Amino acid sequence: MLLLPKFDYEEPKSLQEALRIFSELKGKAKVIAGGTDLIVNMKKGIVAPACVVSLRRIGPLSVVDTKKTVIEIGSHVTVSELASSGFLAAALPVLAKAAATLGSPLIRNRATIGGNIVTARPAADLPPALMVLGAKVELKSKGKKRTVPLDGFFTGPGSTVMDDDEVLTKIVTPGIPPFTGTDYVKLMHRATLEIAIVAVASRITLDGPAGPIKDARIVLNAVAPKAVHAVSAERFLLGERPSEELFTEAARRAMDDASPIDDIRGGAAYRREMVGILTKRALSKALDEVRGRETRGAR
Ligand SMILES: Cc1cc2nc3c(=O)[nH]c(=O)nc-3n(C[C@H](O)[C@H](O)[C@H](O)COP(=O)(O)OP(=O)(O)OC[C@H]3O[C@@H](n4cnc5c(N)ncnc54)[C@H](O)[C@@H]3O)c2cc1C
Repeated sequence: MLLLPKFDYEEPKSLQEALRIFSELKGKAKVIAGGTDLIVNMKKGIVAPACVVSLRRIGPLSVVDTKKTVIEIGSHVTVSELASSGFLAAALPVLAKAAATLGSPLIRNRATIGGNIVTARPAADLPPALMVLGAKVELKSKGKKRTVPLDGFFTGPGSTVMDDDEVLTKIVTPGIPPFTGTDYVKLMHRATLEIAIVAVASRITLDGPAGPIKDARIVLNAVAPKAVHAVSAERFLLGERPSEELFTEAARRAMDDASPIDDIRGGAAYRREMVGILTKRALSKALDEVRGRETRGAR
């Protein structure tokens, strides 16, 4: 069994205190949130921080704030909370659905939304759902704050635009506009405790009850160095009336937008094929959701 290397441990009670530690230790400290990635990587010797800083005592980081015009999710909110929140199931169903597919109950109880984003795995489940929502992340360091759209946050596998002294404090996302549906479809070798072979998050917004598509977002997971928009498929859908033929052609274009590789979980050709199938399914489910919302609203 692999043993953890020695490290200092801090549990600051305020964000200011945490930011001071990161500023002083200049790259030698790392946040520990749920620890489901960090501890594994420390045991494997991939990372060896001199100091590990827990955020668990910083209360505001564990809160979902629904009082503003946008929804703010603290970075320390767990994946279980995302998956089981009645509010999020209604307001941001794509996020709740993606959260419910992540790992197992044990992992979901520990893993946090912030950790799933910062770890920047090309197959991480929450970023695609947040990207179709148009989410941004708030990054804070001592005396500084910036907000970065998630679309521009990832730079490659395991890498992001974050500086060593920055903490991801919250995720900010607009709610879902009228006549909008979303979905997250994940292909796995087994039904649980499995990283995606391919996954697709979708969102379509219609221009009225039967109107053409005025906004389309498709984010592909595990088929590029980071989660990516299927840009040509998204463009193709704009202004069109939804139909099975339309979604079939969009799915074909999404296959061209993917750049999968062969790895232990699947071959590149198989993955590309699955992008087509999952994209069509995710678009159809998003359309069903638009219609379901309208029917519920009309009652
Ligand atoms: C058995 C198993 C199954 C899994 N299955 C899945 C799966 O199906 N889908 C999936 O997406 N992932 C899966 N994972 C990966 C993992 O659970 C997630 O990536 C998890 O969300 C990481 O969150 P955490 O809170 O545990 O982060 P940690 O492990 O605590 O941290 C991860 C990294 O992010 C940094 N970090 C964390 N929070 C912050 C913050 N607020 N600010 C700055 N830096 C921060 C840490 O310093 C560290 O570098 C699995 C892991 C295991 C062990």
